[in-house]
Amino acid sequence: MFRAIILKTASASPVRSLVTRSFLFRPLVRRFVAGETLDEAMAAAKALAHIGLMSTLDLLGENVSNLEEAEASTTAYIEIVERIGTSEFKNQVNISIKLTALGLDFGTDVAEANYRKVVRAAEKYDVFVRVDMEGSDYTEKTIQVVRRVFNDHKNTGTVLQSYLRRTPGDVQTLVEQGMRIRLVKGAYLEPESVAFKDKADVDDQYVKCGQTLLRNGNYPAIATHDRAIVDKLKSYCEQESVGKDKFEWQMLYGIARDLQNGLHEAGYAVRVYVPYGSQWYPYFSRRLAERPANLFFILKSLFKK
Ligand SMILES: Cc1cc2nc3c(=O)[nH]c(=O)nc-3n(C[C@H](O)[C@H](O)[C@H](O)COP(=O)(O)OP(=O)(O)OC[C@H]3O[C@@H](n4cnc5c(N)ncnc54)[C@H](O)[C@@H]3O)c2cc1C
Repeated sequence: MFRAIILKTASASPVRSLVTRSFLFRPLVRRFVAGETLDEAMAAAKALAHIGLMSTLDLLGENVSNLEEAEASTTAYIEIVERIGTSEFKNQVNISIKLTALGLDFGTDVAEANYRKVVRAAEKYDVFVRVDMEGSDYTEKTIQVVRRVFNDHKNTGTVLQSYLRRTPGDVQTLVEQGMRIRLVKGAYLEPESVAFKDKADVDDQYVKCGQTLLRNGNYPAIATHDRAIVDKLKSYCEQESVGKDKFEWQMLYGIARDLQNGLHEAGYAVRVYVPYGSQWYPYFSRRLAERPANLFFILKSLFKK
């Protein structure tokens, strides 16, 4: 309910323009976003590598408005891959990409062609390309495109969201294909017909799908900051003798740093999702909607002025 209100309010253009123009929001934006340039993102990845954490770089931007922008995103991602591939910490860094940034709104063929270019460039440097999952209007198209590209290139995989009712079926299909999956709860506003609304249902489906992926998946990424779920899945791994090298935990830049460090110190592989770029607003509003305290932080700073 709170999440729906924030996501709807954030999408109104006066709100967007207030937030993106005002410097009041910058400290909070910088908590979640590593910077605006590739140099800043690489510096964040290097600092994480220094303390033993892997990372995945996301050049923020989604739903491009024309083919030129889709091509520009593709070129920018190829540049990122080349920077990673020639860096001294290349084995610890991969990329996350959204098909709507590569032109999915202009046809699956457009997005697929651009995505193939990025995957081919990444293959040269042995860099893994994760396709983020967006709103449910894109789920089927994203899965189909990634499956086709995965047939030709094994350095790619996608994301499944536990709030979607369809997800157990997708877990099954993609596990059979041997694809690497990141499991998340899901961050978009979805109708009840396609997604669970109760946290208990989303969490329950997360644990069940997580167990399937840990048991049968190909190096799954368990992406959550939910400590209760982390504890349940850690116990499951002990019970089923799933080795620490068989999967990785993933968390977002700036969130639950103590949990990221604690898991790393306990010998688990941990990867941090590092978003950067000037198009930070949609990502930022999803992070605000996840946690009321983030919004209270902004309100508090407004009243302090
Ligand atoms: C690596 C990674 C990649 C992701 N990729 C995708 C994707 O491709 N598609 C997609 O739909 N979603 C994606 N997400 C977002 C995901 O769907 C959730 O919205 C997000 O992770 C919050 O869910 P949670 O599992 O942490 O559980 P929640 O129950 O939401 O949160 C558990 C606890 O984590 C902390 N927390 C969670 N969010 C925040 C926040 N914003 N600020 C501060 N604390 C917070 C709080 O302490 C909270 O109590 C990704 C998440 C991660 C970690």
